[in-house]
Amino acid sequence: MKLSFHGADRGVTGSCHMVECAGKRVLIDCGLYQGGRELDEENAEPFGFDVATIDFVLLTHAHLDHCGRLPLLVKRGFRGEIITTAASRELARVVLMDSAHLQEEEAFYRARKVARRGKGETPRPLYTQLDALNSMEYFGRTAHYGQPLVLAPGLTATFLDAGHILGSASIHLQCAEAGKQRSIVFSGDLGNAGRPLLRDPAPPPAVDMVVMETTYGDRLHKPLAPSIEELYQAIEDTLRRGGNTIIPTFALERTQEILFHLHSGVDSGRLPRSMQVFLDSPMAISATEIFRHHPECLDEEANALLASGKHPFSLFSLHYTRETAESMALNNITGGAIILAGSGMATGGRVRHHLKHNLWREDSSVIFVGFAAQGTLARRIIDGAQSVRLFGEEIPVRAHIYTINGFSAHADRDELLAWYRHSHAPRTFLVHGEEAVMQQFASKLENTQVEMPAPGQVYEL
Ligand code: ZN
Repeated sequence: MKLSFHGADRGVTGSCHMVECAGKRVLIDCGLYQGGRELDEENAEPFGFDVATIDFVLLTHAHLDHCGRLPLLVKRGFRGEIITTAASRELARVVLMDSAHLQEEEAFYRARKVARRGKGETPRPLYTQLDALNSMEYFGRTAHYGQPLVLAPGLTATFLDAGHILGSASIHLQCAEAGKQRSIVFSGDLGNAGRPLLRDPAPPPAVDMVVMETTYGDRLHKPLAPSIEELYQAIEDTLRRGGNTIIPTFALERTQEILFHLHSGVDSGRLPRSMQVFLDSPMAISATEIFRHHPECLDEEANALLASGKHPFSLFSLHYTRETAESMALNNITGGAIILAGSGMATGGRVRHHLKHNLWREDSSVIFVGFAAQGTLARRIIDGAQSVRLFGEEIPVRAHIYTINGFSAHADRDELLAWYRHSHAPRTFLVHGEEAVMQQFASKLENTQVEMPAPGQVYEL
């Protein structure tokens, strides 16, 4: 029995872990490295194991840093079975197709540069949309929360609700080999308790080992209620001034959560019923549709709404703008529009057009509701840039800028610790976090042997 590490080791992205047991080789996640050129190149490197010998991939959730290398895995010879929840499978399809499209586009522009220079190797995308579609063929059985799946004699997997995004799971593996028994739980990404739509993370059973994410292992989140109030106030002020409200947002989860809060705001009379909301992102529209199909993943509050005939996203005046022409038409709206568009950090996507048309206007607002990494356009605006460059034009920043930090999809330090304590694990492997954060989190753990695996490290169980 062996456990080895092939991504998100002393780093946040590229999640990929392997268990060898009962004659089978099982991957937990196969994610993309994200953030900066160096990590991009890391994705193209060999996997560090013989791809053709992998029997199963168990996917915790559909974020790109957990599923994004699946098309590459299939392209390089994986012929086993990918198992995940029904919602994760649908979301993964949208996410992988989008990722493949972006990679084809990027390769196309880089190839043109090479052609102009007349030298250099023609860049190829990491994988194409066809590769992404091919990988979907390997999705097999559907996992249901709490129901054990037999992978082989002596090897069982149980998916537990992780409350992070729709369909997300922690995975509990029970292995028996040569008279030895071991149980391991992989946390996946854990959600923030008490948020709308999703249930709180399910506590893990007592196990021998835990492989644990540590994204926010060193900090506590702001409470949700004041953040919702801030959101309402910002929208109200903007409507009063007669400007537009631009909300750069992430297609999965954050968008649906914001739509839910807007719905609640209108329902309680806090926001005007006539408010015009535009969801201007094909990927977010698809993800929202997928939410509608999976009430089994939603919490009691959301299901009670559904039962009463109200859909948590059915705002009276919510418009989906899938087509480019519809999106461009939004530029002609001079006031009163609430526009949700990606990308969340304004590094690309339609939101950049809306920023160009609204940042210079004193009556408009931009509301940031998520994490903004250093070096991104969102970060520059949040940090108080006087002007920003968009589509070759210098645009002065005169709009009201709001940063609301209470909407995290990740558990904070205390929530991670509370979940962890249920595992009673004598051995703990920390992954999916910055090394300094892991160190801090490790200092809070008691009665366990803590490991922070390096890439490629193998442990005998
Ligand atoms: Zn995630």
